[in-house]
Amino acid sequence: MIAIYPGSFDPITLGHLDIIERGCKLFEQVIVAVLRNPNKSPLFTVQERVEQIRRCTQHLPNVEVDSFVGLTVEYARLRNAQVLLRGLRVLSDFEKELQMAHTNETLWDEIETVFLATSNEYSFLSSSVVKEVARFGGSVDHLVPQQVALDICRCYAETHPGATPPIAMNPVSRVNHQPVDQEV
Ligand code: ADP
Repeated sequence: MIAIYPGSFDPITLGHLDIIERGCKLFEQVIVAVLRNPNKSPLFTVQERVEQIRRCTQHLPNVEVDSFVGLTVEYARLRNAQVLLRGLRVLSDFEKELQMAHTNETLWDEIETVFLATSNEYSFLSSSVVKEVARFGGSVDHLVPQQVALDICRCYAETHPGATPPIAMNPVSRVNHQPVDQEV
């Protein structure tokens, strides 16, 4: 059985990689499909994301990485895939994912959506979280594959060269940090 794992992957995180690795044990082939979404302004181009995913899935012989534009079910039909693989983290994912699964089923009733629950250690992790941390100069080494962390670092060094540690916006608040028993 062939499964498509569609998404933005901007960028791929360790949470995505975990779903891919576990999906590989369940299906003969997993096609990771990067969606070209003209409505989003991504950090990485589709081609860069495809290459990032290829690099970090080299150890998985039954993974293929591709990109597509348009309806996911049409792409699945084209690739002879019977399953859409998706990951679930929190309740808000569930609502969105269920709606999408039902919609896709109305478009092609041969398609099944299979959800894998996130592994505990990645339940907080999303591409947006990674970008938010990196934008303010934080390390993302523990959130994304190593090579991707380097790409992100390079990218933000070019686009946000001034990323600095936090600065207190209200210096007056320091006055409150005196020990309580201090005599004034
Ligand atoms: P999309 O833009 O379609 O939501 P994403 O790249 O954000 O694409 O995610 C693709 C899929 O991976 C979604 O099903 C999402 O719920 C799942 N996913 C993302 N992060 C994690 C994670 N940390 N653990 C499990 N599943 C995840």
